[in-house]
Amino acid sequence: YKNAPPNVRAVWLSTAAFADRAYLVYENERITYGEAHVLVASIANWLLANGVKRGDRVAIAMRNFPEWMLIYWACLSVGVTVVGMNAWWTAEEMSYGFKDAQPKVAFVDPERIARIAEKPDMVEGVTLVAVRAPATAGYVAWSDVIATGGAMPEAEIDPDDDACIFYTSGTTGFPKGAQLTHRGCVANLFNMVFSGQAQALATQRGTGVVPDPNAPVPIPVALLTTPLFHVTANNCGAYATTAAGGTIVLMYKWDAGEALRVIEAEKVTSMSGVPTMAREVITHPDFATRDTSSLLSLGGGGAQLPPDLVHKIDSQVKTARPNTGYGMTETCGIITAIAADFFVDRPDSAGPAMPAFEARCVDDDGNTVPLGQVGELWVRGSPVIKGYINRPEATAETITDGWLHTGDIARMDEDGFIYIVDRKKDMVLRGGENIYCAEVEANLYRHPAVAECSVFGVPDERLGEEVGVALVLRPGHSATPDALREHCASIAAKHKVPRYIWILKDPLPRNASGKFLKRELRDTLKLADAG
Ligand code: ATP
Ligand code: MG
Repeated sequence: YKNAPPNVRAVWLSTAAFADRAYLVYENERITYGEAHVLVASIANWLLANGVKRGDRVAIAMRNFPEWMLIYWACLSVGVTVVGMNAWWTAEEMSYGFKDAQPKVAFVDPERIARIAEKPDMVEGVTLVAVRAPATAGYVAWSDVIATGGAMPEAEIDPDDDACIFYTSGTTGFPKGAQLTHRGCVANLFNMVFSGQAQALATQRGTGVVPDPNAPVPIPVALLTTPLFHVTANNCGAYATTAAGGTIVLMYKWDAGEALRVIEAEKVTSMSGVPTMAREVITHPDFATRDTSSLLSLGGGGAQLPPDLVHKIDSQVKTARPNTGYGMTETCGIITAIAADFFVDRPDSAGPAMPAFEARCVDDDGNTVPLGQVGELWVRGSPVIKGYINRPEATAETITDGWLHTGDIARMDEDGFIYIVDRKKDMVLRGGENIYCAEVEANLYRHPAVAECSVFGVPDERLGEEVGVALVLRPGHSATPDALREHCASIAAKHKVPRYIWILKDPLPRNASGKFLKRELRDTLKLADAG
């Protein structure tokens, strides 16, 4: 699938057909597609009137407000590149982002306005627009931007222009600014549509139901729980929902109880996010009393879905089938996807590679390993990014001959299903034995008292590394480190039993994507405190 449709502008313009349908829902605010088209055209005209041209960059430094999506489509529709600024960044990190990406204009919300005030130098020469905040000195008012009016201007866009620059989650190091092209974003949308259809078919498989060609296609209502400046919420969730004329439901911040309230109130059909969020939803005290019967799928991506969770979703959420996607910022979204019966049958698989990709597992020399053996996963296809801005070495190390080195260790079976076993950097090397964190985590999650856990290597003089785990127990449950070790030993070989166990009171630290910060745990936990 080399020739994805030309550009993302086409995706947005085609949604004019959905005029009266609700597009964006945030708390008690609602914006229809018709209203969104008027606003997006205004923003696009305002950008052009203010000297922003094709190829220029415009930053969005905001939480998940509806304006985020409107600004995004406006920029892409006139060939302007969006810089997705991480809303979790401190003033220091924001300064880095501004210096790195050099946007001409930045749309900022109240929290970002406060952060900029801490280090005003970071925005020298940048035109600032205050969103959901009064336009004080130095800021253009949002009301002026959307009062611009006019029809969507014509634009010339090359499929290989940068649609957006999104920073990686920063799980393994400082975030890198990835260049996602129009072609890549549209190819990912194609993969999303493909995976959605595969999911619908997989849901029917084994039910004996013959698909009815006249059955109405359910219009998606997607609850996006992760930040719009990452591919999970934006390129996967928002794109697929927009292209289908569905409704995007946004939350100010993640909260499982609030998510359950919104699922009931808005009749949400899918909730995407990291797997821990799905776990929090189904173990929340309100889960039993909230009406979640609108949910057709639940799961998430961005991290491994432990197999016990796949089964729990399938058995506990009456209408919803489990699903996951495996992907990266560097691939504009999903590389693989799997759902429903296919997933229940192989809960440790992330699914087959999507049609826009070729995939293979390689050894340290880049040679393809035999099927069934583990190696680093390399993928090639139109969604692969152009590179990282200002980091030619990192780009050259990561992409060779069009092949993206994912940094993930995986194996592929003869049906093409891919199993992600760990990040290359996270693997625990214990006395010559590779231990995969995700496997140890999956074993721990089978213990009823474990609410969340993160496994990592702890330096050891004799063995190189030992297995350590930081975990949090479910309220009302208890378990001693020895009991947890015994539980692990009943499932897996001795060397996979954690030597060090930290039972923490507070939730594990996470980044903006909702992923656990292993590095931070590894660096801050003291051996003396382990059980
Ligand atoms: P950084 O690159 O800055 O260290 P990051 O890799 O977490 O951060 P992302 O691009 O958001 O940044 O995440 C991609 C990574 O997330 C993948 O390389 C993989 O390790 C992990 N991942 C994503 N989806 C899945 C999944 N379904 N199963 C297992 N791992 C996943
Ligand atoms: Mg990464």
